[in-house]
Amino acid sequence: MAMYDAVVIGAGIEGSATAYTLAKNGQRTLLLEQFPLPHSRGSSHGQSRITRIAYASDDHYAVMMKEAHVLWRDLERESCINIFENCGYLSVGTPEDPFIKDTLTSLRKHGVKYDIISHNDIKSRYPMINVPASTIGVLDHSGGILRADKALSAFQECFKRHGGTINDGEPVLQVIPGDVVTVKTSKSTYQTSHVVITVGPWTTKFLPSLGLHLPMKPIRISVHYWKEKWRGQYSIQKFPTFMYGSVYVMPCFEYPGHVKACLHDGPEIDPDDRDAVNTNYVTETVQKYVSEHLPGLETVPSVTETCIYTMTPDKQFILDNHPRWKNIIIGAGFSGHGFKLAPVVGKLLSELVLRRQLSYDLTKCRIDRFLPPKHQL
Ligand SMILES: Cc1cc2nc3c(=O)[nH]c(=O)nc-3n(C[C@H](O)[C@H](O)[C@H](O)COP(=O)(O)OP(=O)(O)OC[C@H]3O[C@@H](n4cnc5c(N)ncnc54)[C@H](O)[C@@H]3O)c2cc1C
Repeated sequence: MAMYDAVVIGAGIEGSATAYTLAKNGQRTLLLEQFPLPHSRGSSHGQSRITRIAYASDDHYAVMMKEAHVLWRDLERESCINIFENCGYLSVGTPEDPFIKDTLTSLRKHGVKYDIISHNDIKSRYPMINVPASTIGVLDHSGGILRADKALSAFQECFKRHGGTINDGEPVLQVIPGDVVTVKTSKSTYQTSHVVITVGPWTTKFLPSLGLHLPMKPIRISVHYWKEKWRGQYSIQKFPTFMYGSVYVMPCFEYPGHVKACLHDGPEIDPDDRDAVNTNYVTETVQKYVSEHLPGLETVPSVTETCIYTMTPDKQFILDNHPRWKNIIIGAGFSGHGFKLAPVVGKLLSELVLRRQLSYDLTKCRIDRFLPPKHQL
């Protein structure tokens, strides 16, 4: 039976970053994925994700982002793949809005270059945005777009170069805990000193067999692309990534002449039955937003794609050892903001495997926040 130092279950961005870091640290690592790669059934597919250093309310992620930013650049160099497009991140709100105030605090604290943009200046710099006169903009110069598909394949390719093995189209059916863990899949059985479970939206289906019932909710996100009325207005040279209210917007990037604008919310789903839910209200909400705030766009989406967030009640990640079996490590609940942090998530999950001192305080990401003492294993 094949024996590994670590088996990582789930080849999304978090599992791929973890497997890569483990292999780079000399660990014989197997990365198992249920679907043939690449696939579009989880949370890490598609061509773009927003990145930025500042975090309005969760300073621990801003601290991690400073290193993530460096690690993305390192991955670009190692893979020779261009991943980061530095077009900026514009937050819009009233000066009293806690989101704006906390974003400014975070930018100042972490020494990130930014501009405060008055409403008049928003109108002259970004005439393609229509926001209320009471609002201001904060442009975070560290922000921009990560090429998601390319980032995922960069981690997987570099993982293989460091000696790692990827077996795709091979779902894990059972994990049998012990000093040596047995991992049974649809095709084979493996033994390993450590298992890392990074199964994204499938976490709530996977963990009960290991005695864990964590309050996570997979939700379906509709990814809408809206055609420019006049070609070039929202080009990446003129327009940053943009957040106002609960909709986020990206300049024309993946599909020529199309802006990506999506609601940061959606209905709860079963990841194996993802599309069996009505999302008309999501489309209608973004449609109204586009009519009001992005007047240079057609108001019917040209293309709609689908992705899944896995939400925790407090929107904090889960990065921890299994409470009972310390050689089983869990990375989950990335709550719609985990992509940009993946290189640091990979580093932290690897540190849990290697029993090294953690680079960051993970108190807020611990599993026991969901386990009252009587339920602890
Ligand atoms: C539309 C959208 C926009 C987003 N925008 C941003 C953004 O702008 N910035 C940002 O930072 N983050 C963003 N995110 C969030 C980010 O993409 C996710 O947090 C991240 O991709 C989560 O990755 P993951 O590896 O945990 O999950 P996944 O990518 O879902 O990976 C889990 C993998 O595990 C596999 N798996 C499951 N069960 C098994 C099994 N039994 N055996 C083997 N394999 C299994 C699955 O098939 C899957 O490939 C966005 C997400 C979405 C959906």
